[in-house]
Amino acid sequence: MGLFQNVISLVELVRTPEHKLKQQIRAVPPRPRVMRLEVDAQRCSGCGSCIEMCPVDSIAVREGTAEVDHDSCALCGACMSVCPDEALALLEE
Ligand code: SF4
Ligand code: SF4
Repeated sequence: MGLFQNVISLVELVRTPEHKLKQQIRAVPPRPRVMRLEVDAQRCSGCGSCIEMCPVDSIAVREGTAEVDHDSCALCGACMSVCPDEALALLEE
């Protein structure tokens, strides 16, 4: 179910203007966490593409690897769509 919803989110992401998408994500109320965005440090090249895509500024690159602030991450999956190294994944907690 969670994975299916994330696939739908990615499809909508492609179709939605960026500014409108960010407004929509900020408006989503907090919900119980069942998933978590994980960074595969072996894959991440530290390019920073995910930082610009994140609507809630939950990612930073430190010492060449992306790090996620799990408290603020909205689990939208937007960062995953731009990662050239497939280093990001939403995993069940
Ligand atoms: S899934 Fe990625 S883009 Fe979405 S809020 Fe979390 S870190 Fe930001
Ligand atoms: S887009 Fe991917 S490779 Fe680039 S910093 Fe983010 S996680 Fe790392």
